[in-house]
Amino acid sequence: MSDCLFCKIINGEIPSSKVYEDDKVYAFNDIDPQAPVHFLVVPKTHIASALEIDDSNSDIVGHVFKVVAKLANEMGFGKAGYRIVNNCGKNGGQTVGHLHFHVLAGRNIGWPPG
Ligand code: 5GP
Ligand code: ZN
Repeated sequence: MSDCLFCKIINGEIPSSKVYEDDKVYAFNDIDPQAPVHFLVVPKTHIASALEIDDSNSDIVGHVFKVVAKLANEMGFGKAGYRIVNNCGKNGGQTVGHLHFHVLAGRNIGWPPG
């Protein structure tokens, strides 16, 4: 999608600090980190939000969680624990209209959310 920030990051039009990439997803450090480890995992296909997940595209969700588990082991934060967050829509706090999963680690992440 031509006017989408994360599509532009995926295709290299806007620079980012890459964490991981394969044929289905791109992962990069959040510009405003909320924890010592804070990166975003985004599908390379433009999906506006979790509300658009259906039979045609739901495979990507399992792939994202599998990639995060692999990165957690490789980057060393898996044992201590981490949080995967998806904000969906206005009340969910979503600010960028391209499906993304936050990965937060490196400190005790509080609960419940504000
Ligand atoms: P949301 O609020 O939609 O769940 O998350 C959007 C995230 O994207 C925020 O954590 C924000 O810091 C991050 N973000 C916004 N613009 C950019 C950018 O240009 N580069 C990077 N790396 N992250 C961004
Ligand atoms: Zn997009």
